[in-house]
Amino acid sequence: MDDLTFRKAMGKFASGVTVITTDLEDDVHGMTANAFMSLSLHPKLVVVSIDNRAHMLEKIRSSKKYAVNILAEDQQILSMNFAGQLKENIDISFAILSGQSVLEGAVAQVTCEVVNEHVEGDHALFIGKVTDIHIEDREPLLFYNGKYRSLKEEKVVETV
Ligand code: FAD
Ligand code: NAD
Repeated sequence: MDDLTFRKAMGKFASGVTVITTDLEDDVHGMTANAFMSLSLHPKLVVVSIDNRAHMLEKIRSSKKYAVNILAEDQQILSMNFAGQLKENIDISFAILSGQSVLEGAVAQVTCEVVNEHVEGDHALFIGKVTDIHIEDREPLLFYNGKYRSLKEEKVVETV
């Protein structure tokens, strides 16, 4: 099977968009990721999957913590910035949640401590124990079929 068929199929899975942030000394590094999921309620665990070519990999291994910023519908530019898709630099405002840098305006900010790492294929899964959460009442940014979307353009499904 070719890579394009796989990516095309995986692109049929509609997701939100997150920016993973991690702090190292005075530096904060961010990376766009949609391979994120809630893992466990008791204890509260989440997981992110990071490509072994991403700079983020060694940064999380070193900091042993990360924050998941679930982007709002007006934050596509942040997704593009942290995916390396913009030509010019933009001003980014970070806030602090429980000592970790997070993105202002995100729908949810979730700070974690890494409790485990599993290397599988060409990605590493970082299991994060949730240490703090901040939620804002905003609409999320969506990603489907390789394109950004918002909930507003989706048809409402009638329930009987
Ligand atoms: P770099 O390429 O070094 O950094 C990414 C970009 O963020 C650079 O442009 C950098 O300038 C900018 N940046 C970093 N820190 C800061 C800062 N403090 N202030 C301002 N700008 C900063 N890859 C995965 O491994 N897993 C996924 O789940 C995943 N999902 C994705 C979902 C979407 C919708 C998209 C578009 C991409 C996804 N990617 C994913 C790909 C990933 O986002 C890119 O390959 C990314 O460039 C890899 O990041 P990096 O750590 O190598 O960092
Ligand atoms: P795309 O068409 O490349 O991706 C569609 C879907 O395929 C993604 O949502 C993801 O589920 C899967 N996918 C893509 N690349 C993958 C990879 N290297 N490993 C595992 N799954 C992958 O979407 P796009 O808008 O062209 O993506 C922009 C860039 O971001 C591409 O370079 C893509 O490879 C990368 N990306 C990586 C991941 C990931 O590593 N998990 C996820 C999404 C996008």
